[in-house]
Amino acid sequence: MTKRDYYEILGISKTASVDEIKSSYKKLAKKFHPDVSKDKDAAEKFKELSEAYAVLSDSNKRSQYDQFGHQGFDQRYSQEDIFRGFDFDIFNDIFNGDNGVDSIFDMFLGGKRNRRHTNRGSDLRYDIEITLKEAAKGVKKPISFFKEDKCETCDGTGSSDSKTEKCNKCNGKGTITHTSRTVFGYLQQTTICPSCHGSGQQIKNPCKKCNGNGILKKERTLTITIPAGVDTGHQLRLRNEGSNIRSGDSGDLYIVIHVLEDHIFERRNNDIYLKVPITFSQAALGDKIKVPTLDSEVLMIIPPSTQTGTIFRLKEKGIKQIDSNLIGNEYVEIIVRTPNKVTKEMKDLFSKLSSISKEELKLDSKSFFNKIRDAFT
Ligand SMILES: [Zn+2]
Ligand SMILES: [Zn+2]
Repeated sequence: MTKRDYYEILGISKTASVDEIKSSYKKLAKKFHPDVSKDKDAAEKFKELSEAYAVLSDSNKRSQYDQFGHQGFDQRYSQEDIFRGFDFDIFNDIFNGDNGVDSIFDMFLGGKRNRRHTNRGSDLRYDIEITLKEAAKGVKKPISFFKEDKCETCDGTGSSDSKTEKCNKCNGKGTITHTSRTVFGYLQQTTICPSCHGSGQQIKNPCKKCNGNGILKKERTLTITIPAGVDTGHQLRLRNEGSNIRSGDSGDLYIVIHVLEDHIFERRNNDIYLKVPITFSQAALGDKIKVPTLDSEVLMIIPPSTQTGTIFRLKEKGIKQIDSNLIGNEYVEIIVRTPNKVTKEMKDLFSKLSSISKEELKLDSKSFFNKIRDAFT
């Protein structure tokens, strides 16, 4: 996308005075402030004209911009640099002090910085798989990955001996001037030297290890701390652990969490669920059984006459909520198992039991029908 000319954005001439720049910006800022304007592109326009104002209201930046145009200017100034020294007091004039300067500041630096990576190394992503138990309790994990990093041999300078010499492309001027002949006469255009990026200097003896780049692809190993309570899709951001560039900041490293399925527990938010099989006898008579938890196991009482499908709650045996002290529960669903094999002895016992059970069901159904009859009389 080509940037619009700063003068054009503010609707002023190239020779506009400081006061003209200021008054034009005030007028437009009032119109396009995102809190006020109904224009759907208001935020974008507000940023655009604020950037224009930031540059043109600073005599030093203005003259650089006049000399080099957008392309040359952007090579020298990052977005942060453009807004460094921005006259935020002007908002007090425009909005009577009630404007949320902080959010405006975020809009310039936070918003723009994420989209522009001109002076930052790239962000990296690392996907990591952890078990449910690790997610529940938190874990430290060693990871290693490759990233563009500073060359240690030359300390990132790209030079083997710190000696520099005049850039041979621009002859040390840092800029290159093209002169072209037009019908109006000679036209001179000055741009930043692409070879030395305006410094006018070049490395005399390039570092042999990194070929003068100052940057090498290197393996990085570090131990990351994954907090308790994470879930699949959560991201951890490790500042400055992304790739490096020769001049500028490092990018960030994003750790993307994947929690593996557990073969015992099913996770639902911070609670865990599991099914525990018990026998007929345990269900009828009651028992004490060992139930696994994320930590180890607990002894759980099965009361007599427990039905299949009954769910017991083990308080706070679930997963700790991330960034809070709340702990989820463990829910144990009882499954009464029918025996796969029935021995002769069991058969006799079940037969005896069968006659008694029928009586019990009869009683149950009788009372059930009685209730219905009562309802109609
Ligand atoms: Zn090097
Ligand atoms: Zn040069």
